[in-house]
Amino acid sequence: VRADISANEAMKNYPAQSAERQALTQALNDVAATFPQSVPIVINGERQKSGLNSTGEQLNPSKHSQVVATYEEASDAQVDAAIKGALDAKKSWEAVPWNDKAAIFLKAADLISTKYRYTLMAATMLGQGKNTWQAEIDAAAELADFLRFGVKYVEEMYAVQPPKNAPGIWNRTEYRPLEGFVLAVSPFNFTAIGGNLPAAPALVGNTVVWKPSPMASLSNYIVYQILEEAGLPKGVIQFVPGPPAEIVGRAVNNPDFAALHFTGSTHVFKHLWKTISSNLDLYKGYPRIVGETGGKNFHLVHNSAPIKPTVVQTIRAAFEYQGQKCSACSRLYVPSSLWKNGFEKELVEQVNKITVGPVQDWEHFMGPVINKPAFDKITGYIKKAQEVGDKVIAGGSGDDSEGYYVKPTVIVTTNPKTVTMTEEIFGPVITVYVYEDADFEKTAELVDSTTTYALTGALFARDREAVIKGQALLRNSAGNFYINDKCTGAVVGQQPFGGARASGTNDKAGAPSLFSRFVSARSIKEAF
Ligand code: GLU
Repeated sequence: VRADISANEAMKNYPAQSAERQALTQALNDVAATFPQSVPIVINGERQKSGLNSTGEQLNPSKHSQVVATYEEASDAQVDAAIKGALDAKKSWEAVPWNDKAAIFLKAADLISTKYRYTLMAATMLGQGKNTWQAEIDAAAELADFLRFGVKYVEEMYAVQPPKNAPGIWNRTEYRPLEGFVLAVSPFNFTAIGGNLPAAPALVGNTVVWKPSPMASLSNYIVYQILEEAGLPKGVIQFVPGPPAEIVGRAVNNPDFAALHFTGSTHVFKHLWKTISSNLDLYKGYPRIVGETGGKNFHLVHNSAPIKPTVVQTIRAAFEYQGQKCSACSRLYVPSSLWKNGFEKELVEQVNKITVGPVQDWEHFMGPVINKPAFDKITGYIKKAQEVGDKVIAGGSGDDSEGYYVKPTVIVTTNPKTVTMTEEIFGPVITVYVYEDADFEKTAELVDSTTTYALTGALFARDREAVIKGQALLRNSAGNFYINDKCTGAVVGQQPFGGARASGTNDKAGAPSLFSRFVSARSIKEAF
């Protein structure tokens, strides 16, 4: 029986004393007992040590004295060998029948949802600072969904054929993988994205050099091993941890570079795009560039919105996973009538109830931020806000003595273009701008023009006219637009994810359009 590839992975809830909680507790202990794990470079299936004789450390952000993994750092020669191996593996991988390719990724999805669910979650929790429920969304549900829905979408794409033939003519379209190799560069914040960036291009017959984030080395290596156990042939995905700038620079300077599948910062993405464009004469074709980058995402509240649910959704969007989702809400616009009549009070009260602490303690809504540079950057923004006269009304401090903990922080400003309203902080900080009720439309325009990003945003209103107006005025302000719901938590197969403007190429993870970027169609006309 064919698996249902259009159902989302069922989420588990982990109530106290449940079998799920016990299993996850066991996995947390088992995984921690292996620390520091050694994460190799994998070229053509072969485990290698660093050609640079150098390793990096991934620390547990909840407790930075604990080294989660030491990862080997690839040298230029190893990057070249990975590329050569990917090119060599291409012919045989391309020739594997579609059903057999699909079966590998479906099997990997099943391994993720069953055998390795808790191990992968534990690695994500201890390595990347996610609490149980955030790890469940990411390393269990979304990762399995990406793989299963990917198969469904590629099947649909292959089925699209020219609508017309003529007497004696047979027209058809063939979806070929790209000529060359694909470079996948993945972020720390989602294990699921780590898996999806190499898997999506590989599913349609490409071979991939994958540079995982150093801060997600362990979970990403487990994902690699799951793909291997599911039957992915050697060399189809090359696992190449190490110094980001060197590895990526080496890969995009290779004549066989065919595509970039990227999630990370806007700054790095722009830099890579420029390098790629200056290399155009080196390549066989025009490389495909697919990237999801930063955001400065908003919640715009209309005075017809109910206070309590809006506050709950805003807190979830701003502070779940410590605000380290590209989609996290960091700008909040509230009409003064609501603000004065309970919104501010409710927001501050609820934020003050949030506890921050080690992710394996179960009770904390928030864990640590990823590392020391992130801690310094986030607390630095809070200081800057105070220096320019903005008011911190909740949180405002951090403690990095044991883990990288930053309190959920709410800033209020009277300057809608203040620094924390315009720059991406990637941490648990939200800035509020209170507007006059009559200025709803003007404020929507302000929301749109404040930043160059356009990833996610949400509008809260019960008034239908405000919904229609807001939706129109904010048409280009977000690739994922939510009405009366938080601006995070896109679900594969339900809300294809991605943004435009400075936020990326908007090719939509978890949607059919993504896969068309990694194939090159050939139209064939045959006359009889
Ligand atoms: N897809 C995730 C969400 O909707 C965000 C992914 C990211 O941070 O890149 O919240």
